[in-house]
Amino acid sequence: MPITLDQLNAAPLAEAAQMLDGLYEHSPWIAEAALQQRPFASLAALKHAMVRVLNEAGVEPQLALIRAHPELAGKAMVSKALTAESTNEQTKAGLTHCTPEEFAHIQRLNADYNAKHGFPFILAVRGPRGTGLTKAEIIATFQRRLHNPVDFERAECLRNIHRIAEIRLNDKFGFEPVLGNAVWDWHEDLARHTDPGCAELGQLTVTYLTDAHRACAAQLQRQMLALGFDEAHIDAVGNVVGRYHGNSPGAPSLLTGSHYDTVRNGGQYDGRLGIFVPMACVQQLKLAGRRLPFAIEVVGFAEEEGQRYKATFLGSGALTGHFNPAWLDQQDADGVTMRAAMQHAGLPATLEAIGSLRRDPAKYLGFVEVHIEQGPVLNELDLPLGIVTSINASVRYLGEVIGMASHAGTTPMDRRRDAACAVAELALYAEQRAAADGDSVATIGMLQVPNGSINVVPGRCSYSLDLRAPSDAQRDALAEDVLAKLGDICSRRGVRHTLEETMRAAAAPSAPAWQARWEAAAAALGVPLHRLPSGAGHDAMKLHEVMPQAMLFVRGQNSGISHNPLESSTSDDMDLCVRAFAHLLGQLAAEHPN
Ligand SMILES: [Zn+2]
Repeated sequence: MPITLDQLNAAPLAEAAQMLDGLYEHSPWIAEAALQQRPFASLAALKHAMVRVLNEAGVEPQLALIRAHPELAGKAMVSKALTAESTNEQTKAGLTHCTPEEFAHIQRLNADYNAKHGFPFILAVRGPRGTGLTKAEIIATFQRRLHNPVDFERAECLRNIHRIAEIRLNDKFGFEPVLGNAVWDWHEDLARHTDPGCAELGQLTVTYLTDAHRACAAQLQRQMLALGFDEAHIDAVGNVVGRYHGNSPGAPSLLTGSHYDTVRNGGQYDGRLGIFVPMACVQQLKLAGRRLPFAIEVVGFAEEEGQRYKATFLGSGALTGHFNPAWLDQQDADGVTMRAAMQHAGLPATLEAIGSLRRDPAKYLGFVEVHIEQGPVLNELDLPLGIVTSINASVRYLGEVIGMASHAGTTPMDRRRDAACAVAELALYAEQRAAADGDSVATIGMLQVPNGSINVVPGRCSYSLDLRAPSDAQRDALAEDVLAKLGDICSRRGVRHTLEETMRAAAAPSAPAWQARWEAAAAALGVPLHRLPSGAGHDAMKLHEVMPQAMLFVRGQNSGISHNPLESSTSDDMDLCVRAFAHLLGQLAAEHPN
């Protein structure tokens, strides 16, 4: 019989500790300490209480816990000395059926990892969906993580231990993240479509209006109708628009969604999570035969990443009336204009049709978007959800410093006018200045000495500068300081410079009432509240120009890596996200009775 949360909350301490036995390998003290905080409102709250106990225990108990784990496919497995939980996990991952070569390979990795880090490699082998990673995935992860710094790996092992405990806890409580599993599987299914040449390499690339892109749109449309949307169509720029009607014809709409295109060799959750999560909510409403006092409009935006054409936010921009007519004549790398690509896709490719996509904000309550975080913050804090306070303001420059190219052997250090050293000094200043803000970022991502030589003092240095901060004022102050420093550096070094501003985007702070709804949803799920700005741009930035918006972030695995095939998120976290979204719908329904 599975345990219930009520039983756990009501049981005497010793009995409750017995219920949680085996969650953390040979370390019952973690669950025992967490039980002091009963009653728990949810499994998520219990999980987080145990995370906090371990985080606050300090390094030595953490290392002891890591060392209490068996090696993967190690001696304990071979001699059948594993705990029941570990045997189950290693068997599910196929580690008990390794070929002699695989077995030898894993033993080598075990030895190398232990020698470098001083503790065994820990991986939640049941993976993000709970059904088990493949042996190939396990070995690839092992090889990759071997090279991480020791401190990072200690934290990564602990995160994996928490994931192992989460799955074991689910098993004990007979809990299955049904909605999260469905959403997770939909991502897998959609990721079958990838641009030519990418499938062979196992890469996901879906750029604007390619065959794979159109297949994604068609699949999303079919799926929306199958789940119970009243309407779903593909619009004049390729957005997939699904509507679930409200309980009266004149009801306003809630707008939500995200993008289904990807970067080259990207991850499968970036953007798509924000389409599938509301789709799961509509499915639940349909199954319950429930109508809300507002319609739900879910949009799978056709283009956000600006990969095939330089037209970032094309999909969401069409809804706000910001489609640039010049884009139609833009050519991709093969010389295909956007107009031709649209016609090939069966779209009208006229400005009239595109212009008609513009939404009347008066008909909408607002816009919400869920997205994977694409950063390490939630992963490091062991939190499944984060509340976005603002999408950061940004400004970008392309610059060049011009000094004097001269002989590297004969020019004394005090007579040089080295352009590259000037930019290097600027890079270090920008790094330190942004760090001083705490939440600003500054990046010199391109730095080149054109026609440089090993024996020549750099006479020119070209570079890019990308500055971002949660508010326009903070970004402007950062930019002002960095540009003032650039002037100082150049005059002191006797060099001159040029600088061109190439992009400027205003911050998109979350609308307070909408941010509060996400916060109430997280609180209702027993998930600790964490607020954070978004360092990346999102479709919500475009909708922000015409209606109130707020975003919810979901934790990414692997330090939240994104725009990378290692991008990953668990079905447990997705499950919480679906329930948070449903909670937000419930709040809105209560606020708009009719
Ligand atoms: Zn995205």
